[in-house]
Amino acid sequence: MSIEEAALSRQQTNKTFSKKGWFRDTNSIFDDRALSPYAMLVRLYLARCANEDRVAWPSATTIAEHCNISRSSAIRAIKELESAGWIRREKRKRENGSYSSTMYYLLDKVDAIQRQKELRIQELRAMPYEEYLKTPEWQATRGRMLKLAGYRCQVCNGKHNRLNVHHRTYERLGEERDSDLVVLCPSCHQVFHDNGKIVGPRYNTYKGCAS
Ligand SMILES: [Zn+2]
Ligand SMILES: [Zn+2]
Repeated sequence: MSIEEAALSRQQTNKTFSKKGWFRDTNSIFDDRALSPYAMLVRLYLARCANEDRVAWPSATTIAEHCNISRSSAIRAIKELESAGWIRREKRKRENGSYSSTMYYLLDKVDAIQRQKELRIQELRAMPYEEYLKTPEWQATRGRMLKLAGYRCQVCNGKHNRLNVHHRTYERLGEERDSDLVVLCPSCHQVFHDNGKIVGPRYNTYKGCAS
């Protein structure tokens, strides 16, 4: 297809999309295998209500009526869409500060994946540190660091069957860079905590950090 033909075809596609009485949404909504049929339906209804900026604000009752589902199902579907990252919810405030309608921002798949990642990082940062150490995310990071260090202590170069991966900073917890971490044998780890910079009382014990 020539550039001109491609441009023409795009123009025609856009015309179809902006046709009065029609709506559009991303195909990728059907690729989310975890999404319930109710959530898919409600997403499509929100797309039908959305303006050019992909924002919609129907009430839960309106959504329920048009999707032929109960109001509580509609509310559940909205929550599901939100936690899966397909929509972002925002309460619109009146001038006097009271809340009026809820705005739904439709997110596409890239946004959804990004949003899911953000929500997961929030979750990882909110959980107790001992629990974080058990998550698949930390286990993967820990494995990556041990491999990178050649399964040796990065201070004394000693081989030890119980190496620890120590956080030099907790700033990027859940998405640590290699430089945020250091692989240490238990005795070097102890030295780090005895002499090292205090990063926060929560983590300032060797015991709490051992992982
Ligand atoms: Zn060591
Ligand atoms: Zn440590």
